[in-house]
Amino acid sequence: MRAAVYLVTLFCGLSLSAIVYAQDEHHDHEAGHRHHGAHVHGMATLDLVMDDDELMMHLKSPLMNFLGFEHQPETEQQKAIYQDMLQQLEMLATLIEVKGSSCKAESIEVEEPFADSDEAGHADVDVSYFLRCEEPENITELKINLFDVYSNLETMQVQMVLPTGQQQLRLNQQRTSIRIQ
Ligand SMILES: [Zn+2]
Repeated sequence: MRAAVYLVTLFCGLSLSAIVYAQDEHHDHEAGHRHHGAHVHGMATLDLVMDDDELMMHLKSPLMNFLGFEHQPETEQQKAIYQDMLQQLEMLATLIEVKGSSCKAESIEVEEPFADSDEAGHADVDVSYFLRCEEPENITELKINLFDVYSNLETMQVQMVLPTGQQQLRLNQQRTSIRIQ
């Protein structure tokens, strides 16, 4: 139980630093543009914690990257796109491949994206994955396929806490894999 609480704390801390990082980014490249935490269209964050056989991932992205819109789906076409996204997010193995070990998703939590959209109508996808891996020490790589599925996604800021230490890196459509060893 203690470990779980620790990890949750760690996880929140990571999210926070990801947001701070994104804000810096925002300042540098898009000065004068709207400022709203980590919500930058084209950009997503992935926080990852590996501990023993547990692998936890938290993915956050503007809904725009995944849907092409950020309001409640209205037309039949928008509703279909939204349902497809929800189904896709549940199929973690096709979005993020863990190489070297077999991992099972024990829980997948997708937050309702429109519940806390801001007054300007921006909304985020927020998903938490909890996996258990059979041979975690053999994990060599995580292959991120989200760029193939969602073409509006341009960069992903990754923050990791691995048994070997903390690390952060940036992925894009050309660089899609995270080396673990
Ligand atoms: Zn937005």
